[in-house]
Amino acid sequence: MCRKAWLPWPRVKLSATAGLDWGVSTFVTLAHEDGAFEALPNPRHWALEAEDLKAEQRRLSVAARARKISRRALRAHRRALARRHAKIAARRKDFLHKASARIAGRHRLIATEALAVRNMTASARGTAEAPGRNVAQKAGLNGSILDTAPAGFLNMLRYKAEEAGAEFLEPKTRELKPSQRCLDCGAVRKKTLAERHHDCDCGCRLGRDEAAARVLLNWGLEESRKRRDTETINPAGTVGDQAAA
Ligand SMILES: [Zn+2]
Repeated sequence: MCRKAWLPWPRVKLSATAGLDWGVSTFVTLAHEDGAFEALPNPRHWALEAEDLKAEQRRLSVAARARKISRRALRAHRRALARRHAKIAARRKDFLHKASARIAGRHRLIATEALAVRNMTASARGTAEAPGRNVAQKAGLNGSILDTAPAGFLNMLRYKAEEAGAEFLEPKTRELKPSQRCLDCGAVRKKTLAERHHDCDCGCRLGRDEAAARVLLNWGLEESRKRRDTETINPAGTVGDQAAA
């Protein structure tokens, strides 16, 4: 199963199952049961737009500090920046809606990790009550992670999958460790963020994102099978529990 074949969004397969890994360089990587992978790249213009906006903001605060700009002009500039910001945000949201609808509509089972998303973004930002430490140091990495808006994307994907009647399964990242585990032999080895490949002693070699997506897929198939077995053994109890939850 350790093979690599890139497909552009293929034909609709209603019975399709997918393991989904999201990342910074590739927005979403999907692993399919037949061994194929799909990648949805991160729109490049996002990073450029964000850089542009940041540079503009910096220029404006420098000018404001040096009193080279009138209060009125400063207000006007800030309003213009806020408008650009809102426009970019709307375009991202549109992209996320389309991408999540497309993925949710084509699969009956999607397995993806949700915990790491919250952890990674929460670590630097913190919350309103408890702002994070080392915000500036972490901002570089998290800036690009936040650019992909993963939390919003996963929420969209979750409710769209549920609406479409698909199974949406989320393992506990700390237990499964999709980015560290070998999809073939199950060995766990920590990778640094810079390591872009999965290269296991057992001979399995694959891109990092593809390997993680495949681990998620394998887990999702197993989890789904377990759930079905439970339902067969105790249908009334399982249905009742789900309805109550
Ligand atoms: Zn291995």
